[in-house]
Amino acid sequence: MTAEILDGKALATELRGVLAQRVAARAAAGKPVPGLATVIVGDDPASQVYVRGKHKACREVGITPIGYELPASTSQDELLALIAELNGRADVHGILVQLPLPAHLDAAAVQSAVALEKDVDCLNPANLGLLAQKDRAPRFTPCTPAGILRLIEKSGLDLSGANAVVLGRSNIVGMPVALLLTQANATVTIAHSHTRDLPALCRTADLLVAAVGRPQLVRGDWVREGAVVIDVGVNQIQDPAARRGQRLVGDVAFDEIVEKAAAITPVPGGVGPMTIAMLLENTLKAAELADA
Ligand code: NAP
Repeated sequence: MTAEILDGKALATELRGVLAQRVAARAAAGKPVPGLATVIVGDDPASQVYVRGKHKACREVGITPIGYELPASTSQDELLALIAELNGRADVHGILVQLPLPAHLDAAAVQSAVALEKDVDCLNPANLGLLAQKDRAPRFTPCTPAGILRLIEKSGLDLSGANAVVLGRSNIVGMPVALLLTQANATVTIAHSHTRDLPALCRTADLLVAAVGRPQLVRGDWVREGAVVIDVGVNQIQDPAARRGQRLVGDVAFDEIVEKAAAITPVPGGVGPMTIAMLLENTLKAAELADA
């Protein structure tokens, strides 16, 4: 069997086209343009690249990006004061605080301060808590997990009763993915760094979601024939044959799995582009909810 490649880039482009039309329709109806405020603290180069990408994507669909870059010396009180100001601004519909924050700042307290109706990243614990409750849901679905669910939908896998194994239990990927899959009636096992015999556990999976940040951890013989494999990992490895001497790989050994799986996401071009599309969708949804 050769796997279907779940092309997140193409799916995200399609979704962004639809979002651009919806934003344009709002403008034509005289409604406010959706605004996304982004906050970076410190000078982490990766954060700057990620946020630049998010701003570009916003502009492409007609959402206004409103960027704040604060020095690494910013105090907790100063950051909370900015969040309070953004919570009160009518032109800001979504607020994204880019992680990681410098070590002296309390990220959990900052995330808790983001107004629930502007929490487009879904990192306020009150929103994550709603995700964990049966028959309840937060206003916004967290971006990377939401993108993953769309890619699974594209694969045609029926999640009801499926055995899903999620590698990783982080607040931004592993745990919310596991909760969303549970809501979709999959039987979910969450694995982490203390899990025994990971390969055997993975072989039980109809759906395997890898979000560990370990380059090509998941090998070909860990995957059952016909499984759907979602690779969330983004890892840079040295490769003398690559143009810049390094390249990006995921958490799964793509070449070993592509001949076995029913469907697989590539890295890059799988989950990453979907994460940004979901952020845009959540920001538009926040603006629509603010109209009411
Ligand atoms: P994280 O916070 O570092 O969490 C990693 C998780 O993997 C933890 O739960 C950890 O277990 C588990 N883990 C680590 N090594 C393991 C091993 N050898 N065996 C089993 N479990 C192991 O990472 P994250 O933020 O969730 O991100 C995971 C990956 O996804 C990273 O490569 C990141 O760059 C990528 N990512 C991509 C996107 C995207 O949009 N494409 C978005 C977010 C993240 P413990 O809990 O026991 O420590």
